[in-house]
Order: sequence, then C-alpha cells, then structure tokens
Amino acid sequence: MKKNTIAIHTPYPRKDVYGALSMPIYNCCAYEFRDHKEMEDSFCMRSDAPDYSRVTNPTVINLEHIVRNLTGAKDVIAFNSGMAAISAVFMAITAAGKRVVTSRHLFGNTYLLLTKTLRRFGVETVLADLTDLEAVRRAVDDNTACIYLETITNPQMEIADISALAEIAHKHGAALVADTTMIPFTCTDVHRLGVDIEVLSSTKYLSGGATSLGGLVIDYGTIEGFRDAVRKDILMNLGGYMTPNPAYLQTLGLETLQVRYDAQQANALEVALALDELDDVEVCYPGLPDNPYHELCERQFDGNYSAMITFKLPTEEACYKFIDSLQLVKRATNLFDNRTLAIHPYSTIYGTIPVETRLDMDVSPRLIRLSIGLEDADDIISDLKQAIEHAIS
Ligand SMILES: *Cc1c(COP(=O)(O)O)cnc(C)c1O
Repeated sequence: MKKNTIAIHTPYPRKDVYGALSMPIYNCCAYEFRDHKEMEDSFCMRSDAPDYSRVTNPTVINLEHIVRNLTGAKDVIAFNSGMAAISAVFMAITAAGKRVVTSRHLFGNTYLLLTKTLRRFGVETVLADLTDLEAVRRAVDDNTACIYLETITNPQMEIADISALAEIAHKHGAALVADTTMIPFTCTDVHRLGVDIEVLSSTKYLSGGATSLGGLVIDYGTIEGFRDAVRKDILMNLGGYMTPNPAYLQTLGLETLQVRYDAQQANALEVALALDELDDVEVCYPGLPDNPYHELCERQFDGNYSAMITFKLPTEEACYKFIDSLQLVKRATNLFDNRTLAIHPYSTIYGTIPVETRLDMDVSPRLIRLSIGLEDADDIISDLKQAIEHAIS
C-alpha cells in the first residue's frame, strides 16, 4: 500500500468490539485486568495491554501505530506538544557533561531549552553554523550526544546537508536528530539521509486545521537504548504523553495530511512567485529557483519545499503597517493552519529575547513570516499585495 492508503486503512492494533470506523476516544485513565498475572505482565511491559494513560492509551497507540506504518520506524511516541517531544529527546540522550551541537537558527523555544533550561542541568550546547561542515567537524567531539537540526529552519529558512551531518555525527558515535516539522514524513524520508531520530510538532501539518497540540518522536531504532529511555524513563517519570482527544483529532488529520500539504505547498509557490515580482520585497522560499537552498531542498526532500514563506520589507515600520493592513490573512502565530497566517517574528515570538540574541539568530526586524493556507491562491495574493502597498506607500 502507498502512503495515502496506509494513513486511512491501517488496522487498529486491536479490533474494536463495535467495529467503529474511526478510532474511538478512550477517555479513561486506567484499565481493568482479568487476573494478577495479566496485570503483572502489563505493568512490567511484558505485554502491550494498557495499564495507565500517562504511559499508554488505545487512542494514542493507534496514532503512533499508523505513523510507524507510514515511516517504517521502530517506534513512534506521541507527546502533548512539540516542545514536550523535543525535551523528551534531549532528556533521553543527553546528561550532565554531554554536548549537543546545533545551530543558532532554531525554533525559539528549542533555542531556549538548549541554551538556558538544559544548561542548568550541565548539558553543554555548542552553536555552530550547520551549513559549514568544517565548523561542525570542529564542534563535534567524542563526548557529543547528538547533532540537532531543523530540516528548514524557522524563520531563517536555512537548509543544511543532512547526509554530510550524519557522516560527521556517526563518526563520533553521536546521534543525528532532526526536527522535521516543516515537511511531513509522508512525503520525505530523512532516515534514508542518516537521521536517527525525527521529532516534530504535530500541532502543525498533522493536526488538520490547527485542532490540537501534539508532538511525535519517531525512532528509527539506530540509537541503542533510546526507546527504553523514552518509554521506561521519560514518559513515566516526566509525563507529557499525548492525551486521547488530541490523538483522535490528529488521527483524522493524518488521513488528509498529504492532500492538504500538496495543496498548501502549491499555493505557497504561487504566492512566492507573485511576491517575488514586487519591488521592495525580498522573498525567501526554497521553492523559488533562485533561492540558495533550492537544489539541496529539492534533492533532500524529494521535491518538497514546505508552505512557509518569509519576506523582508524595507523597514521595521513597514512590517507593522503591513500586519495592520491585512484583511483576509490572519494575524496569528502557528504554522500550517487551513487559513493563511502572518506574523512579525522579531516583535512577537522572539520579542522577549535580548535584541543582540535576536540579531545573532538572524531574526531580522524587517522580516515577515507567512504560513500559507488552503484558500484560493488569488485571494491570498490580493490581500498580501494590498497590505504591502499600504506598508510601503
Ligand atoms: C511549533 C514548532 C515547535 C514546537 O511545537 P509545539 O507543538 O508548539 O510545542 C518546534 N519546532 C518547530 C520547527 C515548530 O515550528
């Protein structure tokens, strides 16, 4: 079966007694057992029978099971947000004295997790330019737990050569961990490029119109002990497992993920081409042939470029005028909602981070980020054009 069929027709791990066509929401905390032996086996992880919903729940297991089928991963573990999934990965593979090599170009909270929260626990984060392989070679040592990257960085839209990074990581016995939120796992295969662990915010493409928060850890089984560390230590001791209602919504989202993604990406290319023709607008979208990452993106991600676009206006003031002039496009954070969203990252997502750090992370005060939705492209384009006209007139 191919991916759209797998997403819709993967049988439940256990047959539903009523034959429900969509996985019921098991909104329960605990499960009854026939006898002490069945109970012991469940608690000691010798069977897959659920015992307590902080660590396992039928509706969540079903979502994990479909994603495992789609990716061929050894295990998939669902969390209640992207950040819960990302922090679980670091809690599982790092320790005091261990090093993480990553970029200054990171999602804001991942940046703060690594440079602030985990630093308090003795994890050493080294920020290197991941597009400069010599710099990466200098940064990675035998004490490095992982190289961590985002497939397309948000909002800088930088793309690193994943196979080359895998080679460096594996030479030092380190893992290559990728945040793949920007392009869904249904249309790319980053494990083929050498990624050991994939982590993503399922709040974005997967949830199906921004219905719920979630995060997934996709474990390809190449890092010894990782699965046990997540399932037996992190999930149990820190919590953060996905709850059944979001799992239900995200399972429905998964069924339409590829069609929605293809339509949003096609819209994004149309919008990027239209903005690219305007004076005073510097567009950044890897789908544009003159983007510096165009070829790498096309090769690594099988012709996919995501549905996020950024552009720069001549001044910070023009950005505020643009945002205030939007009529159809929503002023909001989040990515890959069905509706098109616009945000000025510098003054919002990164607004509480010191200015020097913002500039060091290349979050420009002249930058606007767009997440392109499922509306008719012409309508998106005309709203953006009128707002840009207002902004630079
Ligand atoms: C949104 C996002 C996250 C965090 O996910 P949440 O579900 O909001 O916790 C992490 N990485 C990237 C690239 C994101 O866009």
